[in-house]
Formats: sequence, C-alpha cells, structure tokens
Amino acid sequence: MKSTLIGCPQCSGFQFIEFDYFNDGIANIECDNKHKFTCFVQGTNVEKLLESGVHALANKNTLEACASIYAAYERSIEFAIDVFSHHDGIDLEALEATKKSMSNQSERQLGAFLMLYFRKIGSPYKLSRKVTEERNKFIHKGFIPGIERAHQFCKKVYELIAELIVLLKSRFPNSVDVVRNQLLQDFAKGLPGNHRVVNMSTQFFHIPASNIETNFERAFKLHMDATRSFHETALKIRSGTL
Ligand SMILES: [Zn+2]
Repeated sequence: MKSTLIGCPQCSGFQFIEFDYFNDGIANIECDNKHKFTCFVQGTNVEKLLESGVHALANKNTLEACASIYAAYERSIEFAIDVFSHHDGIDLEALEATKKSMSNQSERQLGAFLMLYFRKIGSPYKLSRKVTEERNKFIHKGFIPGIERAHQFCKKVYELIAELIVLLKSRFPNSVDVVRNQLLQDFAKGLPGNHRVVNMSTQFFHIPASNIETNFERAFKLHMDATRSFHETALKIRSGTL
C-alpha cells in the first residue's frame, strides 16, 4: 500500500519519514535517529482502498486503480448494510454470521443492500449498468484499460461511493460514527503495546470530514496538489532550506 509521510514525534525539527501500510493501517517505524514508534492510519477499507486507488491512477496503474476503487465501492455497500442494521437496533456482532454468508458472494450482499436501502431510504437504489459492464471487463476478464477509460470508471465509482456516504451521514449520523469506530477498534487490536502510537487519517477520503467532495475531478486534483505540496515542504525541511 502506498507510502506516505509522517514526522517523527521525538526528533527536534521535523524528520519526515516515508512508510508503507496495509490492511490494518499499522506501521512500525524507526527514524534515522533510531526513535521507534508506530503509526496507525485510521480508516475503514472504504477510505484506504480509495486512497490506494487514486495513487494508482495518478501513477497510471490503470487496472490496479479500477480494482481498488471498485473494491472500495463493495466495502461501502457493506458499510451501508452495517449502518442500516445498527440504526434498526441490530447487534452488529450477532449479524456477523449472516454477513459471512454474503461476503464471499458480492451478488448476495448487493441483494441485501438493495432491499435495506429501499426500506430505509424509501426509494430504489440506482445501480449503474455501465459500471457493472466495465467492472466485469476489467476485474474478471483482466482487460487493462487506457488512462482515460480508467479515469472515467474511477470517477463514476467514486461518485457512487461519495453520494452513498454523504446520504448515510445525513440520515444516520450516529450509526455511521458507531460503525466506523467499531471497524477502527477491530484494526487497533493489532497495535503493539510497547510502542508510542501516532494516529493519522487517510488523506484522500475521510468519512467524518464535514464537506465530502462528491465531484471526483475536484477531489482528485485537490488531493494530488496537496500531496505534491506536502512532499515538497517535507523535502525542504529535510534539506534545511525551509
Ligand atoms: Zn526521530
């Protein structure tokens, strides 16, 4: 999973360190001055997969970008099922066995989502046939899309995710917080007990953010500009020119 930068919490001045993180968001880090600490990137897999996807897209790894962003969409459907269920007073742990029966077959999960969505929101969820066709071609048949086609696919899928999350936050804000915190607590179980922990969040898409950008072009440009500027500042600090 992509590298990011973090300042060592013990170094005087900032020493920015590049590191990688994977599914649990936990990275054990040692700076040049041998300070050891753990970074915990707090995000659901919706947030982490979107971040991975936009960086793959920026690097022109088109198939990887489409796969990550589509996986984020499937995780957002799962997230919505949890939010709807929590709002109905269902114990999420008790729901685990049922979710396991669905999680390996995305069509089962989608069917559950469509029914719950209709019941909770009161209108049918509009699936995109174009997204499904492109998904089948890229993910199941291994077709490697060109940059523009991948960009359009990622844009469409991103906007489906952003619209769903914005809707969930507006209708069921408490359930969104509870479900997200539960997912983060599950990841936090893997934190080592003996290291200083620095928490950070995903940068591209952050569910608790007050203004989620639903336009992909704007969200992508803002993020890439901010990432470039952050890396340039970190390099200047490191080389002593700032
Ligand atoms: Zn240090």
